[in-house]
Amino acid sequence: MPHDIWNAAAAAELARLTELRHHLHMHPEIGFEEFETSKLVVKELKRLGLEVRTGFAKGTGVVGILRGTAPGADAADARAVALRADMDCLPIDEASGLPWASTVPGKMHACGHDGHTTTLLGAANVLAAHRERLKGTVVFCFQPAEENGGGGNYMVREGVLDDPKCSAAFALHGQPNLACGKVAVRCGPSHAASDGFKIVIRGRGGHGAAPHMAIDPIVLGARVVEALQSVVSREVNPLDSAVVTIGAIHAGRARNVIPDALELLGTIRSLKEDVRRKVHGAVRRTAEGICAAGGAKAEVEINDGYPVMVNDPAAGRLVMKAAAEVLGADLVSELPTATMGGEDFGYFLQKVPGAMFRLGVGTRDDYPALHNPSYDFTDAAIPAGIAVFCRVAETFLADGIPG
Ligand SMILES: [Zn+2]
Ligand SMILES: [Zn+2]
Repeated sequence: MPHDIWNAAAAAELARLTELRHHLHMHPEIGFEEFETSKLVVKELKRLGLEVRTGFAKGTGVVGILRGTAPGADAADARAVALRADMDCLPIDEASGLPWASTVPGKMHACGHDGHTTTLLGAANVLAAHRERLKGTVVFCFQPAEENGGGGNYMVREGVLDDPKCSAAFALHGQPNLACGKVAVRCGPSHAASDGFKIVIRGRGGHGAAPHMAIDPIVLGARVVEALQSVVSREVNPLDSAVVTIGAIHAGRARNVIPDALELLGTIRSLKEDVRRKVHGAVRRTAEGICAAGGAKAEVEINDGYPVMVNDPAAGRLVMKAAAEVLGADLVSELPTATMGGEDFGYFLQKVPGAMFRLGVGTRDDYPALHNPSYDFTDAAIPAGIAVFCRVAETFLADGIPG
């Protein structure tokens, strides 16, 4: 194949990168505390001779800049492209039993961000060794706090896409239910907006034997939970997607006491901004209305989380074409639907077009899901991820995103 150079260079990295990935996996760090991970990334990028910028997103975000040397790379209209990885872990006790399992109680790379960081470092290494193929600049973005905290939002607001001015951004995520080394791309909305809400129902506490003297927040809370299930089924267009889930209820301590208040915690997911706002309004109206009918008061707080992550369809097709060139067309597919999971790469894609591709890490049918305490990013998938990143960068810098 004409693009075997990327495969060969990526494959040559695997042994070293496997060691590096295992090191990261053994030493996971939670969002905004990726101090050692960040130092390791800086060291690797400096070793490659890249221009390195640090201190982003409360401190641990890192950017490496690689200037290509192909003819036209230093022209005023040469392009720049951002390639992004996330570095944070989850607050989970690892149960994989692997030799490189987490050494830190209560922390684990259960979303595979160790693999994302390692793969992007591998891409930086390979692209730096072949910069003569790059007709522009590659900006490697290593962000903190994807799981919680929106590290990507900080990176974008702090200008990682602005100097040099990137006109596209690409990223990957490991996919356990996709065979190792395969690539799948969603062209269009890919991940849902994920918003959190808290409803506090303020009633009036009293004796369990005298409910007429009290305003019972537990009965009202049960009604609110039940009624919220009708928001999606009765108020959202059946052809649109949304989720309202209550994940926690807190109230009461004794069987014969009516408590003063009840708290509900939940999440709202949606794929379109107008649906998002409609669901927010309906959740608020439903909770307030039911509580008012019962003589109680509902305090409803809805917080915007990550935006919908929309893969630009043309950028998605660019990734599929590049992936087919390096991996073979039979290993590349288009995803027919979005996921209602959230992903803060959406902040990058609000600013510039681009796409996140899914990289298969599954080695058996029942491979542990993302966020499962036995999940592990499969090292054998690393070369495919590197080769796709490299070919995407090469073709985007040469031709942009075809219309
Ligand atoms: Zn995750
Ligand atoms: Zn993740």
